[in-house]
Amino acid sequence: MSDTRPPDGDGTATSDDPTLATQRPVVPADGDVDSSRAQPEPDVAPSGGPALGTTERTSPDVVLAIDIGGTKFAAGLVTARGELIDRARVEVEQDVVPEAHYTSLADMVEGLIERARDQHGAKVRAVGVGAAGPVSRGFETVSPVNIPAWRNFPLRARLQDTTQLPVFGDLDAKALALAEGWLGAAQGHPNFCALTVSTGVGGGVVLDGELLDGATGNAGHIGHIIVEPGGRRCGCGAQGCLEAEASGLAIEAITGRPPTEPTYEIMQRTGRLVGLAAASVCNALDLSIVVVGGSVALGFAATFFHSAQVTLDEYAKLPYSRGARITPSRLADSGPLIGAGAVGWRGLRRSRRGVL
Ligand SMILES: [Zn+2]
Repeated sequence: MSDTRPPDGDGTATSDDPTLATQRPVVPADGDVDSSRAQPEPDVAPSGGPALGTTERTSPDVVLAIDIGGTKFAAGLVTARGELIDRARVEVEQDVVPEAHYTSLADMVEGLIERARDQHGAKVRAVGVGAAGPVSRGFETVSPVNIPAWRNFPLRARLQDTTQLPVFGDLDAKALALAEGWLGAAQGHPNFCALTVSTGVGGGVVLDGELLDGATGNAGHIGHIIVEPGGRRCGCGAQGCLEAEASGLAIEAITGRPPTEPTYEIMQRTGRLVGLAAASVCNALDLSIVVVGGSVALGFAATFFHSAQVTLDEYAKLPYSRGARITPSRLADSGPLIGAGAVGWRGLRRSRRGVL
């Protein structure tokens, strides 16, 4: 197993089928889609056979992908090739009761299931969710840190009731790592770390083609690597975590300005801190590529990435980590939904094989 496509995570994915790697252009069915998703066929055969050699005109199987963020819920339809053929979003209202949040999510989900059938002629096979943490093991409950009304909210069971479909979920940062390995900047790399630097800092690690879960499902929380001993107090209780120094919230607290109005110094510093964490991860886990996305990192652009790379070069000196690269995510704003779709496709295949 030397391929992270598709986001299977258990090392038993089928090999590439060259007959499927056709790079066909995608013909979106309406305007609100990401038509940049024309990608080689992933080695996903959701119905157990080479059912993916289809054209855009036949009924595609899709996963209903849901991204539970701090300020919005987004949903989309993701084919087995990772094409996002439709999407919708709704803002998360603050200060409402748990059921109000769920109703707005369920309305959007039901609308997309209708559109899958009526506008796309698509069959929804499962629901895949990427959620802001923390989540409980098995994704039974979610407690997204920025949605205070949801504490131990039984999202999986509720979505299953609403959709009558199998529901699979994972942390949003891990979902994004799956997406990067499937179709993004880590495509073809069996070993990598994906890092999101936005309001918070999240991450996911793929080793030997498998997304790491860890004892409680939280492996890859790169945001809590210490980069500034004795530094700012982190939400986790420690001091000087990457998240406490380099997240959007931290930058705002440190500079008094939103991360959309950065100084050169703060862009450089943030890059350096991310580079430090990346070096530790590459040294510890034998990685040669770190994919970084998120609004802060991508917004700081070349200044950030240059500074991160210089720092990584400075601290990744082992024979296997020397030359490690930091590279920007290629999935832009489609990443979270592609990642949630990946979680759904992976869950379907695992459940068929009895791997849970
Ligand atoms: Zn921390």
